Amino acid sequence: MSDLIKLLPDAVANQIAAGEVIQRPASAVKELLENAIDAGATDIKLVIKDAGKTLIQVTDNGSGMSQTDARMSFERHATSKINQAEDLFAIRTMGFRGEALASIAAIAHVELKSRLHDQELGTYLVIEGSRVISQKPGACPAGTTISVKNLFYNVPARRKFLKSNAAELRHIIEEFNRVAFVHEDIAFTLIHNNNIVYQHPASTLKQRIVSIMGSGYGEKIIPMKQGTDRVEISGFIGKPQYAKKTRGEQYFFANKRYIRHPYLHHAVENAFEELIQDNSFPSYFLYISVEPANIDINIHPTKTEVNFQDNQLIYAILKSAISKSLAQHNITPSLDFEQEQSFDLEELEKGKPIRNPFTPKDVQYNPFETSERKTDLRPGGGQASQQRDWEKLYDPLLERDSRPTEQELPRHDDVHDKSTKIFDIEASRKFFQVQNKYIVSYIKSGMIIIDQHNAHFRILYERFLDHLNKKASVSQKELFPQQLSFSPDNAELLKEIRPNLQLLGFNIKDLGKNTFVVDGRPADCPQDDLYALLERILENFKRNTEKLNIDKNISLARSLAASLSIRHGKRLQPEEMEVLSEQLFSCKVPEKTPGGKLCFWIISFDELQKKFRSTDAT
Ligand code: ADP
Ligand code: MG
Repeated sequence: MSDLIKLLPDAVANQIAAGEVIQRPASAVKELLENAIDAGATDIKLVIKDAGKTLIQVTDNGSGMSQTDARMSFERHATSKINQAEDLFAIRTMGFRGEALASIAAIAHVELKSRLHDQELGTYLVIEGSRVISQKPGACPAGTTISVKNLFYNVPARRKFLKSNAAELRHIIEEFNRVAFVHEDIAFTLIHNNNIVYQHPASTLKQRIVSIMGSGYGEKIIPMKQGTDRVEISGFIGKPQYAKKTRGEQYFFANKRYIRHPYLHHAVENAFEELIQDNSFPSYFLYISVEPANIDINIHPTKTEVNFQDNQLIYAILKSAISKSLAQHNITPSLDFEQEQSFDLEELEKGKPIRNPFTPKDVQYNPFETSERKTDLRPGGGQASQQRDWEKLYDPLLERDSRPTEQELPRHDDVHDKSTKIFDIEASRKFFQVQNKYIVSYIKSGMIIIDQHNAHFRILYERFLDHLNKKASVSQKELFPQQLSFSPDNAELLKEIRPNLQLLGFNIKDLGKNTFVVDGRPADCPQDDLYALLERILENFKRNTEKLNIDKNISLARSLAASLSIRHGKRLQPEEMEVLSEQLFSCKVPEKTPGGKLCFWIISFDELQKKFRSTDAT
């Protein structure tokens, strides 16, 4: 048999390498920005068209390249950053593998203009799919401009799997930010489709964080710093009261590189424990620096996973440093703890999710009772009064039903026929809430158990979808219009879905610079934190459209419904349970939530009867 093995042509090898290094426009952005930083630039401009699908251009005022280097830089394993294997253990530059430019040139149309500071003329170079199309001298500013056009033009599979422009732009913004967060001494500009998205002047670290996160952010963070001879940790942590409902504002950097580190993340969470509620996430921007030899940055091709030699030491330092910083700023666990205890009841008081006016049929029902309960339930006065409440709610029922008379027993064949309502007798006798989570009742054919959250989710979802499709909704005016600032990527998204939010009843005006005024909200929307609500909607929306690829309107209706639907753990009055149940059964699809979770479950009387007649058990 003849020999079969041959070396791949460079262009093919480069394309394969590109598959690993360049997954989407954002990866090219990252590589180009890092090269500019390695070249010593103090001013870097990123210009993007169509979320990078048409153009990614990085201009820097760094060292520039000679004619030969310009040509060489596109060869694979061509780097000016390491010479020998030992250098790998002392890396202080962002790149070193010499793969990025070769990879990008294999899958795009690339133009380079570069000039050394002490030369009159620079170099123009055009490369397409690894082929040099032209190279000639030409005039240009000192430094380098690389333009990457039509990324993946020759890898249709990759191009096809790119996400929407909004999604790809968010990835780009994320990469851009990760770089900008660690190089506050460098000026950065990001322009997308001729609009300035960011303009960061060289500044202090805190100013840079505020410049990225939006004005007002400075109020929300406190500094921290701690060092030993082996490791330095510094940066900013978010005040607990501003903890987010979603992850996102959590950044670790090691030796000026964005990293992910679940173990160290745990140290931060640990330090914040008791200060923030479950399922809230503290914000942090933490900068770790160690000797390059003590960090292994190369266990992952895109280099976000790293290993520290002193993992445990860093964990301990981090945790104690955060605790110390929180204490110095007078943020101690006991302060917030009380708030947390009363959380549930505050929810009960404000923002009643169901706006229909109740006609309290139960004589025991006293709408003014809640404030009294709230004080009762504070730590110390707790359990006993909670017990009394419980009894109050169920007493009449227990009393009557424990000694039922013939007439009082619901007879499933005739009781309900008299009314058009599905649930037609006194709510307090008809609805139990179990575990502040399930509504138990009965209908003609059997017992019904409703999941309060899932049911309300379905109701709101259909209502919102209806608003979006009919292009009409009810908006209630804010007494005091609110001015809200968002992080630029959320601001971009908000602009994009503003017309849809309008249909849902939000009245939002764009003031520019990532700031908005909101002077109307949906009629069903409780008076709680509008900013948090919008953020939750944006996060949900991102998840839905990116991960699940769902239609915009459906995704929005779903996000808003998910954000506004009543939670498990919320105590409901019988009348509220009644309204909720009636509304659920006027839905088009009452059975399931939009995500496919069960809203209710019926055990038929036949089943019950069978169960009790069965002779399985002796
Ligand atoms: P690496 O960054 O890993 O060395 P790249 O493929 O990203 O590999 O770049 C190859 C080489 O091209 C770099 O080592 C550097 O010498 C040169 N280079 C790339 N971009 C620039 C730039 N913006 N300014 C100056 N030199 C650059
Ligand atoms: Mg590089």
